[in-house]
Amino acid sequence: MTKSTLTNFINGGFVASKSLDVLPIKNPATTEILIYVPLSAKTEVDSAAQAASLAFKEWRRTPVGERIQPLFRLKALVEQHRDELAQIITRECGKTYAESDAEIQRAIENIEVATSAPIMMQGINNEDIARGIDEHMIRQPLGVVAAITPFNFPLMVPLWFMPYAVAAGNCFILKPSEKVPMTMHKLMELVSAAGFPKGVLQVVNGARDVVDAILDHPAIRAVSFVGSTAVAKYIYSRATANGKRAQCQGGAKNPIVIMPDADMETTTRIAADSAFGCAGQRCLAASVGITVGTARNEFLERLADAAASRTVGYGLDKNAQMGPVITEESKGRIENLVALGEREGATVVLDGRNRKVAGYEDGNFIFPTILDNVSATSELSRTEIFGPVFSLMHADSIEEAIALVNDRAYGNAASIFTSNGATARQFRYEVTSGNVGINLGVPAPMAYFPFSGWRESFFGDLHAQGAHGFEFYTETKVIIERWPKEWSRKF
Ligand code: NAD
Repeated sequence: MTKSTLTNFINGGFVASKSLDVLPIKNPATTEILIYVPLSAKTEVDSAAQAASLAFKEWRRTPVGERIQPLFRLKALVEQHRDELAQIITRECGKTYAESDAEIQRAIENIEVATSAPIMMQGINNEDIARGIDEHMIRQPLGVVAAITPFNFPLMVPLWFMPYAVAAGNCFILKPSEKVPMTMHKLMELVSAAGFPKGVLQVVNGARDVVDAILDHPAIRAVSFVGSTAVAKYIYSRATANGKRAQCQGGAKNPIVIMPDADMETTTRIAADSAFGCAGQRCLAASVGITVGTARNEFLERLADAAASRTVGYGLDKNAQMGPVITEESKGRIENLVALGEREGATVVLDGRNRKVAGYEDGNFIFPTILDNVSATSELSRTEIFGPVFSLMHADSIEEAIALVNDRAYGNAASIFTSNGATARQFRYEVTSGNVGINLGVPAPMAYFPFSGWRESFFGDLHAQGAHGFEFYTETKVIIERWPKEWSRKF
């Protein structure tokens, strides 16, 4: 790719945006400008919606067994281009090559699960609900649907939605994050090669104007969103006020509880991977540790060692274990939050601010940071940091720890580390989070399970992935029929 401006993908072709407004896409490690992204105008959403509406007429009549064939081809193409995709993700998003590759695996799994459409689209029926009367429920696609996605998983998050939407017979419009648009550009090249009919899939690049055009467009029946809670709330309320279906995944601040009976060696290794993997920019990253009783000292010591020994660097360098955060602005915001924690009385045990990576001095790097004695009533304990910063709190009992977990507004994920089954059961039974880990740091549901955020981490009813995806993207129709013999014409 040259340092030109990316195009949109509408009606089966790459088309230049009509907007002259562009943003530079910078490699977060080197700050080199990679390309420019257009901030498309509302009319371009309309062009995409018109193309999708037209394509829908034929796509919904295409037998489901045929509709999944381009998905099989897309999966093979993603596998063939895996290295190129991983490099693009690392260059625009900053995570390490291994993390980009792991993301691609999760994306592929969603394509695989969506090919179950011939079974997932099946309805239900009963014969003789009354004598001679049968009742059937069938699933029909909604029509044109759209998704708006965040920067931290440029491939996986769009594929939490796209394969299910199109396998169910809908036509799809994506607005990727304007911070990481290159991955979806590459995917659309693969979509073209996979042979989806024109108009079935479109990408419109941009920011708020594109989002608002999606939310207000009368032809768009449903909106999926992943991003921060403030934007999730905005999108959920405007989409639903306009009569659309909406599923909006928001921010997170995920606690992990460490019991004194946990295996401390593996627990600290897993906790460090969860807190500092992807530079803490994962919606399932552990960001708060709650140690119970005597777990406190050993956990803190071992975690600080594991964190300090992580190699921070450019994600395409083989030895890098942690990359930069997405933008300079994000780096400033995270550093300010660490300072806020200090002002509120936390102890900075490991300070990742003001550190440089040799050869990448201008990169948006923050090294692993640990704050101890974070008060449960502090502003920091309630604010999503979304960076490599881990806060520590302490409790005297499992009951107190669970109360601290449930006191947070977010409910994306919560984990416990213990060797006691009864404690683990009490935890999973009582926590008000939708994705729960037991001796696991990143409880990411497989593609055939719903991604179950709760409370301020999710607005809607049906979640992303799997059977929930098919339910979200289909309307149920119930048919009740009676065919009395005496009404039949005699031949
Ligand atoms: P973001 O909310 O800033 O942006 C997400 C999308 O919304 C982007 O496409 C962006 O263009 C659009 N957007 C941003 N501001 C908008 C506005 N005012 N009006 C309309 N649209 C707007 O999120 P981000 O910084 O890209 O991603 C990080 C956030 O995403 C974190 O809060 C993280 O927890 C969350 N996230 C959540 C999950 C989950 O499963 N719950 C998964 C990944 C990321």
